[in-house]
Amino acid sequence: MTIERRVTRQLSVGSVRVGGDASVSVQSMTTTKTHDVDGTLAQVYSLSGAGADIVRITCNTAEAAEGLAEIVPRSPVPIIADIHFQYRLALAALEAGVQGLRLNPGNIRKPDHIRAVAREAKDRAIPIRVGVNAGSLDKDLLEKYGAPVPEALVESALYEIGLLEDEGFDLIKISVKHSNVPRMVASYRLLSEKVDYPLHLGVTEAGPPPGGLIKSVAGIASLLLDGIGDTIRFSLTTDPIEEAQAGRKLLEYLGLRERKGLDLIACPSCGRAEVDVVQVAKDAQEALEAANLPIQVAVMGCVVNGPGEAREADIGIAAGRGRGHLFIKGQVVRVVPEDEMVEALLDEARKLVEEGVDARLAAAEAGADEEALQEAALLRELQGDANQSAARRAAVAEVVQGDQ
Ligand code: SF4
Repeated sequence: MTIERRVTRQLSVGSVRVGGDASVSVQSMTTTKTHDVDGTLAQVYSLSGAGADIVRITCNTAEAAEGLAEIVPRSPVPIIADIHFQYRLALAALEAGVQGLRLNPGNIRKPDHIRAVAREAKDRAIPIRVGVNAGSLDKDLLEKYGAPVPEALVESALYEIGLLEDEGFDLIKISVKHSNVPRMVASYRLLSEKVDYPLHLGVTEAGPPPGGLIKSVAGIASLLLDGIGDTIRFSLTTDPIEEAQAGRKLLEYLGLRERKGLDLIACPSCGRAEVDVVQVAKDAQEALEAANLPIQVAVMGCVVNGPGEAREADIGIAAGRGRGHLFIKGQVVRVVPEDEMVEALLDEARKLVEEGVDARLAAAEAGADEEALQEAALLRELQGDANQSAARRAAVAEVVQGDQ
């Protein structure tokens, strides 16, 4: 199933296209001091490796702007300068060669200043994000609406867009971030009805994980599933590497980006489990992540339901009595001793990536599938039928007969 995305205009942040038919991109922000060029660059590289397509860096002082002049040419990804209060720093960041600007309409308020930045950005074909934030909303709007409600955030964005458009500038992205998830979602929905500029999604000041992650996913995914959003950022109070990883994973799980790494699914375990699922899943995750294989792997606690429930996974392992049943697309291909499960999974996963599904199914151990079926039947006998199929069938039949 694919998500039908709302059509927006397209612009380019350096080499990364945003909007239109471009993939939804992942952004994150450095936490280093920008004048520390080497430290900032090291973090930019780490963020890029973790999945960030674009990195934002604060440009809060003259030294920071000078630092950008050295950082931008050495960066592996496009750099956006984050500007608050001082429009001159936006001009300095443009001179430093940044591929994008973020302006906060709540604290750069003089129309002449905004226009000056628009003219300079237009000459250089550098996009600007109008980054409205509920926490730093224009005071007049706060007074007018009494609170940072969606209408206030959208009005702030539209006012700033008007100033940019007056200068003939249209390389615009917009965000209307809120820390309250329902208000964030409502703000973007309202905005998307009024403009066709690309939208940058985020729940602002989401906080540390796991709460911050949950808030971000709730807000960002709700909109993406509605086709709204062209670029995203998780604003987490943690190492920004986690932000980039989370953003990338969310897009992969929603089918909006191709899988780059491992997707491990595992059953939650229950009374039927024949192994410590939590530990096996942890061991498998470590081994498979180190091998960097772009596949979906399932770790299931029992062979009774495991291979069937995880049929969609590329490969998986389900535990039997002291043994592991390795399966590919739901078909058991090998039976291995329990203490070799993770090693065998890694070995088969490597072969699967190299040789493909058909080749590995053809190389299945003779009788492995049959053995798993027998094991499942035996376990069902020993543990009882959790689904109580026979009793339920009988109850249904009784109801049908009662109607006759
Ligand atoms: S796969 Fe087996 S152990 Fe895991 S939740 Fe399902 S029934 Fe329970």
